[in-house]
Amino acid sequence: MERIKAPKGTADIFGKEANLYRYIEDVARSIFDIYGYCEIRTPIFEEKSVFTRSVGEETEIGKQMYTFADKKQRLLSLRPENTAGVIRSYIEHSLYSSSKCTKLYYLGPMFRYERPQAGRMRQFYQLGTEAIGSHSPLLDAEVIAMALHLLSELGINGYQLKINSIGCRKCQQTHTEQILLEVKKIKERLCSDCQERAEKNPRRILDCKNKACQEMTKCLPDTSSLLCKDCKDLFSEMIHSMELLEIDYIIDPRLVRGLDYYSKTVFEIQKEGLGAQNTIAAGGRYDYLVEELGGPSVPAVGFSAGLERLILSMDRNIPEQEPDIYIAYLSDYLEEAFLLANTLRKNCLSCLIDLEPKSLKNQLKEASSKAATWTVIIGDEIKNGKIVLKDMKREKQLEIKEEKIIEWLIKRKNPADPLYPVKKRR
Ligand SMILES: [Zn+2]
Ligand SMILES: [Zn+2]
Repeated sequence: MERIKAPKGTADIFGKEANLYRYIEDVARSIFDIYGYCEIRTPIFEEKSVFTRSVGEETEIGKQMYTFADKKQRLLSLRPENTAGVIRSYIEHSLYSSSKCTKLYYLGPMFRYERPQAGRMRQFYQLGTEAIGSHSPLLDAEVIAMALHLLSELGINGYQLKINSIGCRKCQQTHTEQILLEVKKIKERLCSDCQERAEKNPRRILDCKNKACQEMTKCLPDTSSLLCKDCKDLFSEMIHSMELLEIDYIIDPRLVRGLDYYSKTVFEIQKEGLGAQNTIAAGGRYDYLVEELGGPSVPAVGFSAGLERLILSMDRNIPEQEPDIYIAYLSDYLEEAFLLANTLRKNCLSCLIDLEPKSLKNQLKEASSKAATWTVIIGDEIKNGKIVLKDMKREKQLEIKEEKIIEWLIKRKNPADPLYPVKKRR
């Protein structure tokens, strides 16, 4: 029979790779805690309109959605990103009534039907935050600082932070008009995507990844000269707070971001050498999205990062999960070994044991390959109430009384915590 494989663009994540994902998620959670964000878990599918009204149907992401009809012919989409779902939830549960600024973070899989390549999968993992309810440009700087804090904790260096303001609705309207005037002259020569953008969302022509388009569109007006007074003031305040926090940045007036919902501040953190996909984290303000999805007029700012690209950018090895103890035993003492493993685990000591009896030599080999800190050897000494303990790192061996072993191991695992409670063997 033909073997069944995982669908194109998806991957099974296990072993060292799964540890890496878990590591990033753990680090992210601890950073988000520090900044006062709470976790939110939204469904991985939503009504299609949640995304068409936020991301935009005609954007690249909008076109890459997995959409299907359920048994009652409701149109549902797998989430291509999570801001829209978080805002839908924020409105549905009236979270705006409980506090002034709601800070939420999420972690989880997203889905986009696109050509799989390094750092770009059809099911990929994202983490991100949304701070909803404040206009303060200090918050924009804080979100960027938090994103950079996360990168630094993950050992990611050598990136560039690009920032820009795409302005309020009024500024965006002016920008669109200015681009439309200019784009006529070059429209014929632009890529088919850009020709479509010229009709539907001309500002996004600036975001085209096609090299020929980038060259031709150099003549198009960027955002540098068009911001209204309010937007200009907000942007300078944001920059001032970035300087206060000593954050290095580059202002890129052509940075517009590929989603419909952004307004005012946008930013991208880019790192070279990751292939075509050089953005490792990105975000910005979306002051109109809550309203556009049917909620009150509440501003918001957030960022997201893809785990696959974070992994590609990390140049640090993460600490391996090593067991505290490996239990080796002579086959006659399987039950004693089995019981000891249970007691060790109840005392929060991680331990490995092979319940299929093997030769002692093989078990010791396995113990060193798993990099256990200690190996407990249960042999004939157990008849005299003693167990052999081998310190694997120092290659030392000692005999210890059976009833003392738990206490002894706990003390060495937690030297600073002698009051660690000891559970007695039953
Ligand atoms: Zn404006
Ligand atoms: Zn183009």
